[in-house]
Amino acid sequence: MIALDLDGVVANLTPVVMRRLVERLGLEPADVRYWDPEHYDDVLAEFPERVRTPEAERILSEIYGDPETYREAHPMPHALEAAQWLARRKLLTAYITRRKPHTRDVTLEWLRERGFPMRPVHHVERPETKAEVAARLGVSILVEDSPREAREFAEAGLTPILIEHRYNRSLTEPWVLRAGSWEALRGLLERLPLDYRERRDPLGYGNKRGQHGRNA
Ligand SMILES: [Mg+2]
Repeated sequence: MIALDLDGVVANLTPVVMRRLVERLGLEPADVRYWDPEHYDDVLAEFPERVRTPEAERILSEIYGDPETYREAHPMPHALEAAQWLARRKLLTAYITRRKPHTRDVTLEWLRERGFPMRPVHHVERPETKAEVAARLGVSILVEDSPREAREFAEAGLTPILIEHRYNRSLTEPWVLRAGSWEALRGLLERLPLDYRERRDPLGYGNKRGQHGRNA
């Protein structure tokens, strides 16, 4: 069974955070470099040094803390169709996110309004890992964008699939399954014997035991 991370996988949150921060700091969009792979956990590192102040940090955490930030995110391209495809095949178990629990209402509304399949949303707070939550849910595959989350998930013996972003290309370990986009990932999933209706005969060989019976 499969779970989906939200930000960077289902919802394209970073452009909203960047735009709000640029507005609050009175900067020009051109002042911001976009996503150095080294800066995954440090949005401010994308900004000119002169504005990387404790005040900017405070504003940034205010932006992340504001539920309205999440409402403004657009879905990631083709994520909606892919999530619906997974749900129709009874493969989608849950959403597992690092969003803070107080964003629960806006998160559920956003999923509903955008037409995403309604599944439980698990807000995971450190030190708990996403793998621990997944294990409880019987989830073995997590579609993720964070290098750190993907690594932790794999270390627990589970399978992360990374939707590729600039900031996760540096993760080159051989256990990393990656997909250039949701479109590519769905193309792959469609070719795997994951459909619950086909599980009894995943490779389409028919009923072997019956054939043996006939031949004997
Ligand atoms: Mg994410």
